[in-house]
Order: sequence, then structure tokens, then C-alpha cells
Amino acid sequence: MPEAMVASSASEATRGGTIQQVDVAVVGAGFAGLYLLHRLRKAGFTSVVLEEAADVGGTWYWNRYPGARCDIQTIDYSYTFDPELERAWQWSEKYATQPEILRYLGFVTDRYDLRRDIRFGTKVTAATWEHAADRWLLTTDHGASVSCRYYIMATGCLSAPKPPEIDGVKDFKGEVYFTGRWPHEEIKLAGKRVAVIGTGSSGIQSIPMIAEQAAHLTVFQRTPNFALPAHNGPPPADRMALLEGDRAGYREQARMSLAGVPWPQQMSVSWQLSDAERRERFEKAWAAGDLVYILTQLWADQGVDVDGNSLLADLIREKIRTIVKDPETAAALSPHDHPFGAKRPCLDTNYYTTYNRPNVTLVNLRQEPITGITASGIKTGKRGFDVDVIVFATGFDAMTGAIMAVHPITGRGGKSLSDVWANGPQTYLGLTVAGFPNLFMITGPGSPSVLSNMAVSIEQHVDWTVDRLMAMREAGYTTMEATDTAQAGWARHMADCSTLTLHRLANTWYTGANVPGKAWGVMPYTGGVGPYRTICDEIVSRGMLGFRLTGPNVAEQCNDGEVVRLQPDVRLVLNMLADMNLPPIESFGAQGARDFVAQFNAARPAGRPVGEVVDGTLAGADGPLPYRLYRPATPGPHPIVVYFHGGGWVLGDEQSDDPFCRDMCRRTGMSFVSVGYRHAPEHRFPTAAEDGYAATRWIAEHAAELGGKPGPVMVAGWSAGGNIAAVTCQLARDRGGPQISGQLLVCPVTDCTFDRPSYHENATGYFLTRSLMYWFWDLYCSPADRTDPRVSPLRGKLENLPPALVATCEFDPLRDEGVAYAQAMAAAGVPVEQLNARGHFHSSLTMVDVVITGVAARVQMANALRRFAGLPPERKEGDEGVRPRSDRLAA
Ligand code: FAD
Ligand code: NAP
Repeated sequence: MPEAMVASSASEATRGGTIQQVDVAVVGAGFAGLYLLHRLRKAGFTSVVLEEAADVGGTWYWNRYPGARCDIQTIDYSYTFDPELERAWQWSEKYATQPEILRYLGFVTDRYDLRRDIRFGTKVTAATWEHAADRWLLTTDHGASVSCRYYIMATGCLSAPKPPEIDGVKDFKGEVYFTGRWPHEEIKLAGKRVAVIGTGSSGIQSIPMIAEQAAHLTVFQRTPNFALPAHNGPPPADRMALLEGDRAGYREQARMSLAGVPWPQQMSVSWQLSDAERRERFEKAWAAGDLVYILTQLWADQGVDVDGNSLLADLIREKIRTIVKDPETAAALSPHDHPFGAKRPCLDTNYYTTYNRPNVTLVNLRQEPITGITASGIKTGKRGFDVDVIVFATGFDAMTGAIMAVHPITGRGGKSLSDVWANGPQTYLGLTVAGFPNLFMITGPGSPSVLSNMAVSIEQHVDWTVDRLMAMREAGYTTMEATDTAQAGWARHMADCSTLTLHRLANTWYTGANVPGKAWGVMPYTGGVGPYRTICDEIVSRGMLGFRLTGPNVAEQCNDGEVVRLQPDVRLVLNMLADMNLPPIESFGAQGARDFVAQFNAARPAGRPVGEVVDGTLAGADGPLPYRLYRPATPGPHPIVVYFHGGGWVLGDEQSDDPFCRDMCRRTGMSFVSVGYRHAPEHRFPTAAEDGYAATRWIAEHAAELGGKPGPVMVAGWSAGGNIAAVTCQLARDRGGPQISGQLLVCPVTDCTFDRPSYHENATGYFLTRSLMYWFWDLYCSPADRTDPRVSPLRGKLENLPPALVATCEFDPLRDEGVAYAQAMAAAGVPVEQLNARGHFHSSLTMVDVVITGVAARVQMANALRRFAGLPPERKEGDEGVRPRSDRLAA
């Protein structure tokens, strides 16, 4: 490091050493640290990068094991901040090798003359926030300490190798290597007996290469992992054409995509595709050799639903059986303990065929765990293996390991980060931590990081951070700190996001499960790169929401709050609707609005299969009404639920809540009869209510003909349908039947006043607007009739009604009247269960397979209906033969 960069400071004498003073200290000279330094310099900040290694490269400096490559296509896994740089570098392969990526990072370093501000061979050992100076003091194991205003940890998510946790490693007399700390000199394995422990990506990449050299290779596998052939070669012509055709557009698409690689959103769902179609898609993906492709392009439910996922996992296991000749080895290599993608799948070159070689043995540690390492080799519960070389491909203390290795990191008030994170990392955006002002973590836990093309996520974090530092300097602020409210909100949002994917169903380094004693939790942000970016931008546009900014000559600014209160998928749906810039639905007129709803519904995922769907007519209050009957696949007779669709008494029909009826039919094991009641303005109050009552009576009387169980029926409805269901219960009580054993009211209309808080709080922006509700009311019911319990059941007599479940959604104008109805029924002695769906909007619970986070509520609703029918809950945890489902685990 040039001496000139080491400045003496006032505190030097007191500390007995030299302190380097900079605006910004960056720790780590990998992809992130290098770009940071470039941006900070351009922005005019004095900066230093502290790097433990002897050179730049980070991951690509340390992981030099045979076969090391990237697993995101290299044209995507590159910097994009400078078009000149993009033109100046050509990748030779679809997946570049470690040496080529390291050369690239060296090229970037030299191109921007970065080395002069990097202190190599310097490990940061501790960091302290010095409150009086509003600066961080970093202690290093070599050379001067560093005093900086801003401390940016670009220390990497996968840079702290995990200890092997096996007794006796020190006793081994042969050679020991760690894939994550592979020596720089050539390692000769020819003629040697080699053991590899670990079959994650590092093991899977190195095993075929080691097998080619070693006299014998023994692979010690604890958990099999899914691997797909990389089909490496030159960068694929089709992707290159896309990139070169519109480089800026391609890069922008990547930034807004889910995983940081531009692939479109897949809309087809597995149950819409035949076996042959699914196989065709799978074979195409297998041939493509692309992780992001197979993870996102086959069918939309494979990443969010265990059933959709297992269809894909079965096909991969079939491939393994086809490739690996020995059936016992093939079985041992086939993963069964986690959904595909929940643990990072690997891209391999000849991995499975390697097990057909005569010099390769697989040891299944599930059957014979390692008991220890001896002077001559490895001992399992059953036998001993004498080897010359042991390669530990045992992975990393991921996401938090390198951050916590700087110990202590002492923030405001002497708080230590390791104490704050004792139960798992707490962050705001994965970038900052409350109580640790001016500390930033590039791709920290709580950001998309390792679930994305890291190059894209790193650039986004670096840009956001440096832009904030510039904006603060401009405004005279010198500190920036996340608030507790914002951080707690982010934790909630993270938890909501993780119910959307299957990552929570696997024990992996994503969840900390690979390190004994580490707190368990899905650490990366699972909501996607594009949504995450928009959230970071929204924080800025909302006046640095959730951050406290201070400076010596400016007033403190703190716009406290949570950035995302909606469920993540609800947010996506509402953003999509907002982007469509639709005129208000009421402006279409009744028929236009009906056409719009029909068009809207045509674009949603098809509902899942049920046993049978039968259309028919029933006798309504004033003539025939259509109905649609959904029968479960199980043998009947089934209890019957009479269902009323939503649509403000104006829109929809017996088919318009089709996915919801199918879903509830499957979950409850009951028949649903969706009633096509008549609509306003053609048929005004009390037609819908009277139709609802008459239809219920008719269905109860004809239960046996419908394949249902004779006896009491249940009623259910959403929105205005919930209103009809509630009214039907009151009418049935007062008119001597039919017998109703339970009512499920989903976001029901229950009253004619519009002055409850939810009407104001959620008046606009959540699809069902206040003005749309006014319109519905006007079309259906004149003001004089509105207090009639047949449209405002809250004003009716509530005693002796059937037990109820009332579901309400937080961001719904109808929320408070639903809650009021539940409370009023409970006060009248009716057994009532209330479900308040946090972060949901009026349509959430019925948007099946779109709003995935609505599943837990539907599980609860199904169980309530089963209870009303005197049946046990939907499924019991641990039931034999019941496959785990994402929804059940989410619930
Ligand atoms: P790193 O590259 O990990 O750099 C962090 C640096 O910080 C290291 O050099 C480390 O020495 C230094 N450091 C840490 N702590 C200290 C300290 N206390 N003091 C001083 N220095 C310190 N991601 C992808 O998106 N696509 C891929 O194909 C891909 N392949 C990968 C292959 C392997 C083998 C591994 C291990 C990871 C892979 N990753 C991949 C993830 C990869 O880590 C990131 O893509 C990226 O390289 C991370 O860059 P970084 O700068 O954030 O961190
Ligand atoms: P990893 O995925 O965590 O795999 C570690 C392996 O070691 C697992 O099979 C693990 O088994 C096993 N293991 C750990 N401790 C063990 C013990 N005490 N006894 C027996 N087995 C033990 O680590 P990795 O392979 O280094 O990969 C980490 C991540 O780095 C990857 O997921 C990927 O993101 C990145 N990476 C990418 C590439 C690429 O292709 N570009 C290459 C390498 C790494 P269990 O599963 O049972 O714990």
C-alpha cells in the first residue's frame, strides 16, 4: 500500500499507531468491492479497500479447485455499468472457468486503476462506531487502522469456509485441501487415492475433474443434490443475439427480472399441461443447460408449490437413474429430502457419469456416517478408507459468516452485532442494521443476493449505496441509520416472501442449517431482484423511508415507517394493475364492467382439477337460475356448500369464482354449488338476497340428486356474495329453513354506512375502491332500502345464526364492516371465528394461484367448513401418505 495513503491523525498518539483517514472504507476486493471503489472515486469520496487476500477477485481468487466455473451464463454474470467495458471484454465460454473470471476481474481492476487504493493482505478484525466523531474505526491485522465516515462490508456471501466439523482432521498425515481455499500452486493428484467430502456445487464441479486424475476417488456424500448438465461451450448464439440486439434493453430486463437474468415470467401451470407437454419442456430445459431457465421457465408452480415441484424433481431423478448404471448408486444420488431449487441446484459437467467409472466409489453417509479422520484416512460407522488426499468441499458459513468474523462490530451505545444477530440476522433491506449507523453490507442477509445473478445484485447495491452517500453529502447529512420500525417491517416482509417459495422447506446454507448451532431462517430475500429494486427506489422516493439522517448543520430527518405492508404477491398484483392504468371500472357501465371482468378472468391461471364439474339450473325466487356444481374426486355423498360469487350484486356469474370454488372443493372435500343469482341494475334489491335464499332452499332439498349429503348445508360467499350468504342465514332462521350448519363470509358487505375507517384508509389504490362500492350500492339498492337486514345484515337480529368464519383483509374498504359483523354475531352468542388477513386486499383470498400468500387463509377457511360439517380438519400434520404441500407448511 502506498505510504502516502497512510495519514497521521489526531488520535494517533493516543492509540499508539497510525490511523488512515478516509471518507469510506470498503472491506473486500471481489466483484462488489471493486465496483464500489470505482464508483466512490468517481463520486469524489476518499476511499480504501481492505482485502485479506493477496490480490483482487474474492470468490474467484480463493476458489481455484479443479472444475471451478460460474453457474450463471457469463454474459450475464459480468459488470454492466460501463458499455465500454462490455465491449472491451469477450467471454470465451458459456460458463467461464475460474481463471478466466479472475483474469476478467484483474482486467477491470487495471482498466480503472483500482489497485492503488487497495490494501492487500489486510484483514479487518474489529470495527467500532465512535459516536463523538460519527465515524467508524476499523482495526486490521496488518498496517494502519482505518477511520472512516462510512464502513461498507463487501465481504461476500460465500467467503468464509465452514470448518469441517469432523474429528481428527489434524491427525491426517496426507494432504488436505479446502475447495474454498484452494492453493495457488498446481496440485498433483495423479496416482493418488483421493477423498472428496461434500456434494454441493463445489464438490459436484470438482469430482469429475479429480476422478480423471486420481488413482481412486471416494466421494463421501451426506445429502444428494440436484445437478443438471451445463452443456458448456461458446456463449450460446441465441442469447448473444438477444444481448447484442439491444444491450441496454437486455440489461434492464435483467435488473427487473426475478433472478437477475432476463427470462420472461412463465404463466402456464403444471396442471394445465399434459404429461407429454411437461416432458417436452423438461427435455428442452435439460438440453439447454441453464439453471435460471429450468428454475423459471417450465411451469409457474414449480417454484412455489410442492406438487408442481415434485413433477420436475421426478423427471430429474429419472435422468439420474438413466445415467448412473448401478441402481444403488443412482438411488443414493437421487435427492428426496428437499424440493428442487430449494437448495441451490448445481450445474455439472459429467457429474453423474463419473459414478460409472471403475475408479470412483460413492459412500452414502446417511447409511454410514463419518466417525472420524485418522492418520491414514477416513473412518465411517462401517469401514475405513485409506487415502492420500482429502478434499473438503464442505461449503461456507454463508451470508453472515464473513460479517460476523469481524468481531466485534460495535455500534451505537456499545451494541455488538453478534448480540443483535444472536437469533439470526436482522437488517433493513439486507443493506443496513438499526443501531449501526453508516454501516452498509453489499448483498447482505435480507437482500436477493445469492438467489440471483450476483453481478446484477451487487451493482444494484453499490449504486444505491453510493447514490445515498452522494445525496447525503449534498444535503449536509453525515449519518444514516435504519429505524427499528423499518427493520421490524422488513423482517415481516421477508417472512411473508419466504412463504411464497419453497426455500423454507430445505435445510441449506440459505437457512443457516449447514452450520451447527446457527440460527435458522431463510436469509436471502426471496421476493425477486426486480421487486426488490423497486422497493429500494421507493424508499428514496418516499423521503428515505425508515432511515434517520443527521448532520452537524441540518435538522434531523426521519421518515419512519414500513416500506412494504402488503403481502409481496399482492404488491405485484396491485403494481401490475396500476401499470395497466385502467379507467375506473364503474366508468365502463354495468355491461362494460361485466365484459371487463370476463376478460380479466380469462387471463388468470385455470383452476385446479376437481372430480367433476356439472352445470345445471335450479328454481330461484322467480324462475330458473343457473348453477355450477364442483364435486370432489373422492367418493360421495359429500357435504354441500352453497356458494355466492362476488361482484357487488352487479358483476360475475356462477363461473366467475371458478378457481376459488375448485380450490375450496379440493381442500374441503365438499361439493360446492355456485349460484348464478340475478344482478342489478336489471334486478335490484331484494332480488339477489331472495335468489340466494331460494337457491339455498332448493339445493338443500335436492342435495341427494346433486350427489350431496342430505341434511344441513353450508353457505359461503365472497364480497357481495358474502352479503348474500349472511342474509341467507338470517332468512333461513326466520323462515323455517333450510337448515344451515355454518357460514363462511369472505370480505362480506354487511352494512350500508361508509364511515368506518377502512372505507377511508383504503378508499383508492386497492382495486376495490370506495367509489366502486358507492356505484354498486347505487345500482343495487335505493337509499330508502339500505337499512333492511336483507342488504345490511349487521342491522338484523343476530341470535341463533349458524357458526361462522368471517374473513377480512387489511387493505379492503369492507374490512371494518366484516369485523363489526363478526363481533356483533359473537356478542349475540353465535360461535364465530375471525380471520384478519394481514397485508391482503379485497380480492386476495379468491385469487387462487396468483396470490399465493392467500393459501394459509384458505386452509383456515376449509378447516372451518369441515368443522361446520362435523368433519376433522383438512389434513393432519404427520398423516401417513400425505405429501407435504407448500400451503400446509405455510399455514
Ligand atoms: P467475494 O467475491 O466473496 O469477495 C469478498 C472479499 O472480501 C474476499 O476477497 C474476502 O477475502 C474479503 N474479506 C472478507 N472478510 C474480510 C475481512 N474481514 N477483511 C478483509 N477482507 C475480507 N454467483 C453468481 O451469481 N453466479 C455464479 O456463477 C457464482 N458462482 C460461484 C462459484 C463459487 C465457487 C462460489 C463460492 C460462489 C459463486 N457465486 C456465484 C457467488 C459469488 O460469491 C458472487 O457471485 C460474487 O463473486 C461475490 O462477490 P463479492 O465481492 O460480494 O464477494
Ligand atoms: P454446499 O453447497 O454447502 O455443499 C457442502 C457439501 O458438504 C454438502 O454436500 C454438505 O452436506 C457437505 N458437508 C458439509 N459438512 C459436512 C460434514 N461435516 N460431513 C459430511 N458432509 C458435509 O457448499 P459448496 O458446494 O461450496 O457450494 C456453496 C455455494 O457456492 C453453492 O450453493 C453456490 O451458490 C456457490 N457455488 C457455485 C458454484 C458454481 O457452479 N458456480 C460452484 C461452487 C459453489 P449436507 O448437504 O448434508 O450439509
